[in-house]
Amino acid sequence: MIWHQAHFDQLTELANRIELKRHLKCQLEDEFTNVGILLLDLDHFKDINDTLGHYYGDQLLTEVASRLVSLQSECSLISRIGGDEFVLVTTSNNSKQLSKLADKVLSLLKPSISLGQEQCHISASIGIAHTPNDGDTSELLLKAADQAMYQAKQHGRNGFAFFSAHMREQAEHRMALLKDLRVALTQQQFILYYQPIVAMKDQSIVKAEALIRWRHPEKGIVSPALFIPLAEETQLIHGIGEFIFSTACDTLRTLNQLDHHLQLSINVSPVQFTAKHSALNDWHQQLTGKGLTTEQFVIEITEGLMMNALPRTQQRLATLTKQGFALALDDFGTGYSSLAYLKQMDTDFIKIDKRFVDGIANNADDLALCEAMIMMAHQLGLKVIAEGIETATQHQLLLQAGCDFGQGFYYAKPMPKDELIKLLNKS
Ligand code: C2E
Ligand code: MG
Ligand code: MG
Repeated sequence: MIWHQAHFDQLTELANRIELKRHLKCQLEDEFTNVGILLLDLDHFKDINDTLGHYYGDQLLTEVASRLVSLQSECSLISRIGGDEFVLVTTSNNSKQLSKLADKVLSLLKPSISLGQEQCHISASIGIAHTPNDGDTSELLLKAADQAMYQAKQHGRNGFAFFSAHMREQAEHRMALLKDLRVALTQQQFILYYQPIVAMKDQSIVKAEALIRWRHPEKGIVSPALFIPLAEETQLIHGIGEFIFSTACDTLRTLNQLDHHLQLSINVSPVQFTAKHSALNDWHQQLTGKGLTTEQFVIEITEGLMMNALPRTQQRLATLTKQGFALALDDFGTGYSSLAYLKQMDTDFIKIDKRFVDGIANNADDLALCEAMIMMAHQLGLKVIAEGIETATQHQLLLQAGCDFGQGFYYAKPMPKDELIKLLNKS
């Protein structure tokens, strides 16, 4: 029964796509008619499906569709072309008019939607493309609108973006990088670096953060800030995450054998937490098998994880802390910095983001913010790690403010395992 429904939906979507292409072709062939496309993708629709179930997911889509239909006089076609993707076609290529229409769509989606007992809020990201600049075939226009939609998502969702030639270049660059990323793991192009974390009072190395590097055969070192988001989108992060964990375990074993007892931080992506099947469940067993204990690990997560967290995410966090893993909230101060999350997550450390540390020597506000974060953390029983310390002055100011640990180029840059061992042997 359910299979039939899914199958039926896919057929409808396919039929809609074919109809859309036919419609666009006709409109494009008419030399007196312009074409504008708004491609709309609902934000976080998957979360609604996952939490409330497909029945309510379908109801939400129906409600969105009926709201969009109220714009029918301004469009030549309105269609649902995929799960939570809708397209509005207009006979206008005027940017002002298209912006206005996009604004209308966003306002139409604002009022909450009743789903059973729940009041749901939904928003959308919209990509806009039009003739003649963005393409002269339905394929080119739809692709352009899709790339613009991706940009709107990147810019924080609930908004719209117009296609630009620069986006096409970016998309091509992304595709090329993605192609290489797919083979990077099997071709052993990843390597873990370790950045020492020191105790502020005597600058002794007490912890280290594992930071991944991709040694691209042609491009050289590619920053994780560039490829981690790609790996997350494509689920490749699961394999990469396992590589990080098992490499970190091997390094800890080596360090233990050399009598260097450090706590090792590893960054764990929200995608690793939210996936239906996650290897996080096996970490405890894996490290026990290697003669290690959970207390030697700190799991670094970001606040993004707790926003709209699924029950299984919270469950996994609770299990990991119960097993003895320490938790650190990374990039603290850049997101919501919600005290509720801190409590809910049973955090051990907060990591003050480099953006605050950068300014402390010259900007009284930044210093006051750091002092306030440290005080608040201490009152909640948490320890504080300041990130991105680059100067002696920053070190001094943070030490005076009561910060517990420091990480940054002032002490040491991220380095390969062998260099870390050399450094530890010297100290
Ligand atoms: P993060 O976890 O906040 O890591 C700290 C970043 O700050 C690192 O950049 C580190 O090299 C940099 N940093 C530390 N001290 C200084 C300093 O004094 N000056 C400056 N300019 N930079 C400093 P990196 O290694 O490029 O990593 C960037 C981000 O990528 C990380 O931010 C983290 O979010 C992500 N990332 C890195 N490795 C991994 C990983 O193994 N797994 C996952 N999921 N994400 C990772
Ligand atoms: Mg980190
Ligand atoms: Mg950070």
